[in-house]
Amino acid sequence: MAVTMDDLPLNTASRTGTAELERITTRLLAQLRTAGVPVTAFVNEGKLAVKGRRDAERVRQLKRCLDAGIELGNHTFAHKSQNDVPAEEAKEDIRKGKRTIDELYAERGGRPRWFRHPYLQTGRDSATRNAINAYLDSLGYRIAPVTVDNSDWLFAAAYENAAAEGDSAGMRTIAGAYVPYMLECVRYYERMADTLFGRPVAQTLLMHANRLNGDHAAELFRRLRNEGYSFVTLDEALRDPAYASPDTFFGKGGISWLHRWAWTRGHRGAFFAGEPDVPEFVKNRAGTKYD
Ligand SMILES: [Zn+2]
Repeated sequence: MAVTMDDLPLNTASRTGTAELERITTRLLAQLRTAGVPVTAFVNEGKLAVKGRRDAERVRQLKRCLDAGIELGNHTFAHKSQNDVPAEEAKEDIRKGKRTIDELYAERGGRPRWFRHPYLQTGRDSATRNAINAYLDSLGYRIAPVTVDNSDWLFAAAYENAAAEGDSAGMRTIAGAYVPYMLECVRYYERMADTLFGRPVAQTLLMHANRLNGDHAAELFRRLRNEGYSFVTLDEALRDPAYASPDTFFGKGGISWLHRWAWTRGHRGAFFAGEPDVPEFVKNRAGTKYD
């Protein structure tokens, strides 16, 4: 399994002070170091800004990630849905998303290699998708798919709200539901891979940079190891031939690549049943204030 983490420097960057953002980054990096898991992470350039200007302290958090061995990719500037904006606007969001990661890699003698679609949305029609893919190719990016999709962001929003209210018991309850939920998501997509390919495939897990993972990512990885998983880089996972499967899904959802491959093969409706639900108390606590 490969681990990917979206929305760096922090999912809630627009409403989290820079000092707190640094504390959460410190905890998140410690969790990843403890777990010894290779991570490819995806940056929203717009989240580096404070009052409209790029903030050097926020950029420094990305340097800390690189120093910790995390590979950084482009997740656009403003996290625009490629299903909702014209191809030219999507391309502009990608271009603006390059600035800092290009600079950081140039300092180290490399370049960013990966692109992750906001909301996993890849364009509503083939003309839009082809135009964006050609642009990504021209920049030397490889698309980072996701097979194990989930709603960790909803748990994270609930956890953030509980933290803001100083409700440590609530935080524990949310975290206690989070790890089993993620394991259920992994099992659901394992079953789907078995059905589609007749074998286990190298999975790509989606997570987000947030307070919840800053406190509990290592526990999740420990539980996954207990279930028999080992962790590989995104390069290694994508060597699985499953990732060469065709994808002609043009629906409005941002969905797992396993779902895309199933859809492309003609599966519909009940084939997709059984995706784990987020508990009601988590949804209620998350409210509507999430990115
Ligand atoms: Zn994102």
